Amino acid sequence: MNHAQLTALGRALRVLGEHGDALSTEIPDSKLHEVKADLKRALDLLEETVTTAAPTTRCPEHPTGPVDKDAPDLCLLCETRRRVARRSKVNDSFPQGRPTAPGESADRGMTRYGVRGDRPQPQQRWLPEMWTGQVWQLCGTPRRDKQEAELYLTAQRRGPRPSMAYRLVHEFTDYEVVRIWGTPVKIDIEPMGNL
Ligand SMILES: [Zn+2]
Repeated sequence: MNHAQLTALGRALRVLGEHGDALSTEIPDSKLHEVKADLKRALDLLEETVTTAAPTTRCPEHPTGPVDKDAPDLCLLCETRRRVARRSKVNDSFPQGRPTAPGESADRGMTRYGVRGDRPQPQQRWLPEMWTGQVWQLCGTPRRDKQEAELYLTAQRRGPRPSMAYRLVHEFTDYEVVRIWGTPVKIDIEPMGNL
């Protein structure tokens, strides 16, 4: 807001304040029309003064960031951060629940659904894609390493018959322990077991 705008807006708002003070049941319609016109003028001044988008969240850090309707401050970015912190807390409540070695746990054959560590790690992959002229198409093995995927695409571009365009896609899969039932105390099993 520049100084001229500040002065004009201040004056318009003070006029509205005076209207508010003078308000009574005997106020004639002509006066109400005057109030309406002054109100509209103040609104127009604000319209000119405010150039940024209205905030979508109540977060001071990310006022126009993505919205999470369930978050207290509506901020998806901060809510994601808080969720990660809560997840760490849930996981850290039972540090002894972690299996000693993945191989050992798998040998126990407790489940046919596979074994997951007590703190599931997010997984990310880098997908090399090429433009076929119609669509983006996977053109190589997804990599765990970004640089490796970039080198692969560079090599593709320098190849004998390169495609018109290539792109690198970041695939990110996050996992979250939302709740734990019971207490996962680690039970030590004797090597030969008393079965
Ligand atoms: Zn935020």
